[in-house]
Amino acid sequence: MSDKITATLIEGDGIGPEIVNATVDVLDAMHAPFVWERHKAGLQALDECGDLLPEAMLNSVRDNHLALKGPLETPVGSGFRSANVRLREIFKLYANVRPARTFVKGGRYEDIDLVLIRENTEGFYVGVENYVPIDDDPKAVAQGTGFNTRSGCRRIAEFAFEYAVKHGRKKVTIVHKANILKYLTGLFLETAYEVGEQYKDRLTIEDKIVDNCAMQLVLNPSQYDVLVTTNMFGDILSDEIAGLIGGLGLAPGGNIGKHGCIFEAVHGTAPDIAGQGKANPTAIMLAAAMMLDHVHYHDMAEQLRTAIHRAIDDGIRTGDLGGSASTEEYTRAVIERLD
Ligand code: NAD
Repeated sequence: MSDKITATLIEGDGIGPEIVNATVDVLDAMHAPFVWERHKAGLQALDECGDLLPEAMLNSVRDNHLALKGPLETPVGSGFRSANVRLREIFKLYANVRPARTFVKGGRYEDIDLVLIRENTEGFYVGVENYVPIDDDPKAVAQGTGFNTRSGCRRIAEFAFEYAVKHGRKKVTIVHKANILKYLTGLFLETAYEVGEQYKDRLTIEDKIVDNCAMQLVLNPSQYDVLVTTNMFGDILSDEIAGLIGGLGLAPGGNIGKHGCIFEAVHGTAPDIAGQGKANPTAIMLAAAMMLDHVHYHDMAEQLRTAIHRAIDDGIRTGDLGGSASTEEYTRAVIERLD
């Protein structure tokens, strides 16, 4: 295959420019098919164009249906609504696929190979929140509402079961909290089992309450294969799963919708190490490998993953993995191990 594929590239905030440009260097060294349209989003865009999600960037993603994106910063507690959440809503990126594989040998667990599929547009992330003032306290009560639709539950369940079958997986675990959030996640559980009826000859289907699932993930992660869950549980569990394989520096993700896909790392902007050349670019490099798989460049995706494996196996590691390599040194090591 030699056709060029135009895709949108968003550096993002914090460590975003360092890790995204490191990834582009590796992709260029591989002669990957992507031709990049570079656009700004997040705080970088707010500073320069007065908009977190500039129209030119949105139009580029609309045209290309494909993007690689660095993390975007969201203020905690107050301020603007997450640009990440808005991007997922605008492009209806309803499935967030977060695979986690052991990359660092000699860690706490060997041979982890899990995929978490998170519903990406509903639940408590719809942003319906308010304070109820009482007497002289304007924040006497905080209220937040979650929404799960039957169609949204069906859509993510179908995605998860199809994904499992297509990737030769054996088991899907539906993760919920239907004992307490009986309606909100009860609908999710009920709908996922209904959809699962068509797959029960090909897959083992089970369910777990989220708190038990979180504990079991630490005790015995190999009992899981594909997990499918609602938005907030998926957000939390995917960071936990990243912890099982050595940390956020190793966990990629793909936001998948009918009309577009945005690939990114699971982690955020890492403000504590931004601009210091310390960031681990592996997660976004692995997201680029997912992007190569998505456009059917499977050999190239595997070539990239193999080079990453080799660099890490050869002990070239960034600080988060106990090493001393800078982002640049690690990137060079990956490039040297491409063949
Ligand atoms: P974070 O993921 O940015 O950082 C958590 C910890 O992990 C930090 O100690 C950080 O240094 C470390 N870390 C993360 N990625 C790393 C990497 N590649 N290499 C080495 N160490 C790494 O989480 P946070 O501090 O909770 O969030 C910071 C900001 O990022 C917030 O504004 C948050 O909203 C945003 N965020 C964005 C996304 C996204 O764009 N998809 C995802 C999560 C968080």
